[in-house]
Amino acid sequence: MHPSTKTPLSEDLKRLVGQPVSAIDTPALVVDLDAMQRNLSRMAEFARKHDIRWRPHAKMHKSAAIARLQMQAGAVGVCVQKTSEAEAMVAGGVYNVYISNEVIAPAKLARVADLAHQVAAERGQLAIAVDSVEGVRRLAHEMNERRRGGQPAIIDVFVELDVGQGRCGVTPGQSAVDLALEVRKHPPLRFAGLQAYHGKAQHLRTPRERREAIAVVARDVRFTKKLIEDEGVTVGLVTGAGTGSMLYETASGVYGELQAGSFLFMDADYAANERDPAQPAFEHALFVKSQVMSSGLLHAVCDAGHKSHAIDSGLPRVLTLDPTGELEFANGGDEHGILKPANGNKRVPHLDETIWLIPGHCDPTVNLHNQMIGVVGGLVNGRVDKIIRVDAR
Ligand code: PLP
Ligand code: MN
Repeated sequence: MHPSTKTPLSEDLKRLVGQPVSAIDTPALVVDLDAMQRNLSRMAEFARKHDIRWRPHAKMHKSAAIARLQMQAGAVGVCVQKTSEAEAMVAGGVYNVYISNEVIAPAKLARVADLAHQVAAERGQLAIAVDSVEGVRRLAHEMNERRRGGQPAIIDVFVELDVGQGRCGVTPGQSAVDLALEVRKHPPLRFAGLQAYHGKAQHLRTPRERREAIAVVARDVRFTKKLIEDEGVTVGLVTGAGTGSMLYETASGVYGELQAGSFLFMDADYAANERDPAQPAFEHALFVKSQVMSSGLLHAVCDAGHKSHAIDSGLPRVLTLDPTGELEFANGGDEHGILKPANGNKRVPHLDETIWLIPGHCDPTVNLHNQMIGVVGGLVNGRVDKIIRVDAR
């Protein structure tokens, strides 16, 4: 659905603004805006210190308002994964957008071409990744078809390398050279550099494993970049990296831009990584607020199941707040979470008690919700500051 045709926020939600956190009905996705702001500042400081651009991945929050905050903090723009996400960003006033993924359907490419015109009118820039000659030709065809004032818009094009994830991308080496040369045959396409993101490296648990994985990536990228430059073609930028590996892409010297997204909210899966001391200390900022609806002798049950949080990267962790005591979360199905006292704690939560869950994986969790409720002043005594729409759902 186009963002402008989305149903408006309900009156109930609007009335929440200014209310104490206790007024938030459950289950609800809640952002600790103070923690989010600290994560943002840490990332901005890291990028400044290392003189590297950052273009956070907006597939995580899918919110144009958050994307604008990131740009105010120094991000050059945002990445998105899909045409519809790019549209939601542009509709929300974000004009520097990189679709860090392949788009192949002509109908979508026509929308991409329209977006390129829209951002150009706002002095912005649209970019996209490619990994096939056919994809390049289709993109060029649609860009040429959708002219304004007789002219096609210009789109930045990154050739994607498969640097170990076994997902999209061409093999580093000659295939990337061939594709870069193909891009340069089409006037509306501007060859902008290389996309090299290694998803599988993000959650290798030790810093050493992550560092070693990215060392291999950087070697392949450097070698491919040189092959392209030997053809007399400038590789303007190498872009990639996620929250787990960004230290190492930065240190490689070959990357010019970081795409980390999850640092802003930090999920339980990322918290399970052993932190490199050089990595900024990002904190959890995204929670599912839940309520105990059944309580027995040995366990309690809350109203958050996997319809309120994604479980692809593991179950949520329960935030320990006094006097809750440590609790373990077990899957109770799509609408139930089973809570058991853990680690010496004996207390079973009582009826009505509020339970804060740290989702296992933030991106697909956000995608389960229409809005995030932004709170300031903490989860216990804070108040609702704003409702953040998940624009690109
Ligand atoms: N770039 C690309 C291409 C991705 O697919 C992702 C996430 O999967 C990211 C960047 C952001 O990584 P993270 O959210 O782990 O920081
Ligand atoms: Mn993710």
